Amino acid sequence: MDRWNLNNQSAKERMIREHLMGRGIRDPRVLSAMREVPRESFLPDEMHAFAYDDSPLPIAAGQTISQPYIVAFMIEALELEGGERVLEIGTGSGYAAAVLSRCAAQVYTVERIAVLAQAARSRLEEFGYANVTVHLGDGTLGWREQAPYQGIVVTAGAPEVPGALLEQLAPGGRLVIPVGATQQLQNLVRVRRIGEGEYRREDLGAVRFVPLIGEQGW
Ligand code: SAM
Repeated sequence: MDRWNLNNQSAKERMIREHLMGRGIRDPRVLSAMREVPRESFLPDEMHAFAYDDSPLPIAAGQTISQPYIVAFMIEALELEGGERVLEIGTGSGYAAAVLSRCAAQVYTVERIAVLAQAARSRLEEFGYANVTVHLGDGTLGWREQAPYQGIVVTAGAPEVPGALLEQLAPGGRLVIPVGATQQLQNLVRVRRIGEGEYRREDLGAVRFVPLIGEQGW
C-alpha cells in the first residue's frame, strides 16, 4: 500500500472511531459498510484529501456529498437487517447508495440532475455495486414501479413528507427524511408504516440539507 493509501486508511479508521462510534453509531452492518466503501472514489479529485473529514463536500451541479456521520446515522435509522429493498431519493455522488448496498439486498436510487445520475451510475458500475439501480427523475414521486420498499431514505430537505413516499413504504417499513418549514434547516424525521394507512412519526434531531426540489417538494 503506498503512503497516500495508508494515510487515507488511517484517516478512515479515525473517522469511524471518533465521528461514528464516538457519536453513538452502533449498527455493525453500518460500521462495516462505512469501513468498506472508499468515500474518496465518489469525490472530485481536488476533494480527495478531505474524504475522511466529517463534513459535507461539494460535488458537481452545486450539490453536496453528505457528512459521513449523517450518512451513517440515517442508514442506521432505517434499521436494516440485510434482506430489504431500499429506495434512496437524492443519489448525488452515489456514495450513500454504495454504503446502503452493503446493508440491504437491493437499492433503488433516484436523482433529478442528469449529470449526477449518469456519473453516479458509471461509478457504481465501475466499482461493482451491482445491487444498486440509478434512476433519473423526480424522487418526490418515489419510484412506483419498484415499490414497495422496507426502507426509504431522502437525502434532501422537504417542506413536508411526500405522500407518494408514504404510499410506497411497505407495512412495517421505515422512511427517514429531513423536513422543515424553510429551505435552510430541517428536522430529521422517521416515519414507520404501522398498518394500512397508519403511520407513526418520530423526530431524530436538527439537520441541514440541500432542498428537495419537485412536485411534492419545494
Ligand atoms: N446521497 C448523496 C451522496 O451520497 O452523495 C448526497 C445527496 S445531496 C445532499 C442531495 C441530492 O438530492 C442532490 O444531488 C440533489 O440533486 C438531489 N435532489 C433534490 N431534489 C430531488 C428530487 N426531487 N429527486 C431526486 N433527487 C433530488
